[in-house]
Amino acid sequence: MANFTTVELLSFLDEALPQSRMAAIEQAMRDDPGLIHRLAVLRREHTQSEQSLGDIWRQARLTCPTRPQLGSYLLEVLDDGYREYLDFHLNIVACRYCLANLEDLRSSGKVPAEQQQRRQKFFQSSAGYMNRMRD
Ligand SMILES: [Zn+2]
Repeated sequence: MANFTTVELLSFLDEALPQSRMAAIEQAMRDDPGLIHRLAVLRREHTQSEQSLGDIWRQARLTCPTRPQLGSYLLEVLDDGYREYLDFHLNIVACRYCLANLEDLRSSGKVPAEQQQRRQKFFQSSAGYMNRMRD
């Protein structure tokens, strides 16, 4: 289990971490309810306002891309760093909100079919790659 410092977690709440680190915490939150609780406690201590775990989770979703960014992702016109983040966000974190958005963009026909197929292949190969990395 990854270890995060208090400073890192506070930076996460402020969305002030590099994207790769934001993503690492986001992923850890999925597997570790204790981490979500720790974030909730930090949040409460540092803002002195009551925030539920659900609020924390919603806050974490602010790391979600915008719809135009998802469109750029489908069209493969994002820079490498952000594309990698989205690969992670969609394939590993499997954010339901973004996957639904992505599906909507795809089915609305705004992305040429040829590119969709290419993308599909990439999805499959990168998902396999990521799985190997997790072992
Ligand atoms: Zn998302």
